[in-house]
Amino acid sequence: MRIAMISEHASPLAVLGEAGGRHTRVAEQAAALVREGHDVRVYTRRESTAQPDTVSTPDGYQVCHVPAGPALRLPGRELMPHLGEFGRWLAGQWRDGDWTPDVAHAHHWMSGLATLHAGRRTGVPVVLTYHSLGTVERRQQGTRDTSPPGRIGYERALGRAADRIVVQCQDEIGELVRLGVPRSRMVLVPCGVDQQVFRPDGPVAPRDPARPRIVTVGRMVERKGFQDVVRALPAVPDAECVVVGGPPARLLPTDGFARRLRALAESCGVADRVKLVGAVPRTELAGWYRSADLVVAAPWYEPVGLAPLEGMACGVPVVGSNVGGIADTVVHGLTGDLVPPRDPRALGTAIRRLLADKVRRFAYATAALDRVRSRYSWKRCAEQLSAVYASVSTVGRTAPALA
Ligand code: UDP
Repeated sequence: MRIAMISEHASPLAVLGEAGGRHTRVAEQAAALVREGHDVRVYTRRESTAQPDTVSTPDGYQVCHVPAGPALRLPGRELMPHLGEFGRWLAGQWRDGDWTPDVAHAHHWMSGLATLHAGRRTGVPVVLTYHSLGTVERRQQGTRDTSPPGRIGYERALGRAADRIVVQCQDEIGELVRLGVPRSRMVLVPCGVDQQVFRPDGPVAPRDPARPRIVTVGRMVERKGFQDVVRALPAVPDAECVVVGGPPARLLPTDGFARRLRALAESCGVADRVKLVGAVPRTELAGWYRSADLVVAAPWYEPVGLAPLEGMACGVPVVGSNVGGIADTVVHGLTGDLVPPRDPRALGTAIRRLLADKVRRFAYATAALDRVRSRYSWKRCAEQLSAVYASVSTVGRTAPALA
């Protein structure tokens, strides 16, 4: 099947660090679909004049750079005015070019607007994954939410107009139903994790064997809850907390968030136990997970949460916030412990108990690994997506017999 993936501002070619999980999910999903035998093109906005029109990746899919708006990296909220141009360009390519997709899968609501525009003009069916929702961002961020005006209304309209909505966790289904998106349009397809990179065996980051280690991973933004992990540390005697992610290590001393986190660690009396590593490549990241006695994921909300899944795939138990994707991936009392978000006291108690119980950690780690292997492979994800695409496209369907 010919599959177009539209990811207006999360290019699969973008590298680690502040790029975040959406880039990874788009890249790995595209690669997994190619392995299932599909012909895949990913469309992303051109952000520099140095970017060629198309790039063929070693994973077998093509990335097409769409000329829409200035060839500059723009923050998400400044992309709105260029989505019409993006959609018209797609429509032109699919109508007049030599490659028309059988289905188009848009990633993020803004990609959805451009894709629906193109889909309506070319008859290409449209599948949408939101990745994050305006209602949740507004609830969590309040006045700091930088979403463009009208986002929630657009998300509702898209949910009613797209042929299928691929949701990534149970929680998202409830949010969308409350928004007014028909439940019948939604299909839950959990994302995968790269189990070649994230596996129990392999290099391990150096550590002090005498001191328990917790590892927490993600972009340095408030909603990831690193500050709650630091506040939880006084309740966890001796343990060292390694924070991986954010800007590269050399930029940490000038990074505002990293400085605030360090100051908080000072004021909590745990500065000597908090280690900021900065962004590392994914292959190196696996070694950090493996070095941990447990992985902590304490976001305030989390549409997917690749980091805890990656920890589980490395055979490490997780203490996570009971939110979004984490509430699906971590089974409380079986593969890890779930605690309420923004509750350093509950978090500290859960971490302390688990660090003190080696047998339980071993049992959690074993069950976590089983769960990842059986439910969160990219192969499984690609098979489920293939079924969704087949259900909306006409490929392989025989025409109804004439009466
Ligand atoms: N990541 C990375 N290097 C780092 C920190 C994180 O490559 O130093 C990757 C990590 O492997 C994960 C992604 O960034 O795949 C974070 O995804 P997650 O779903 O946890 O959060 P998001 O960025 O989507 O909010």
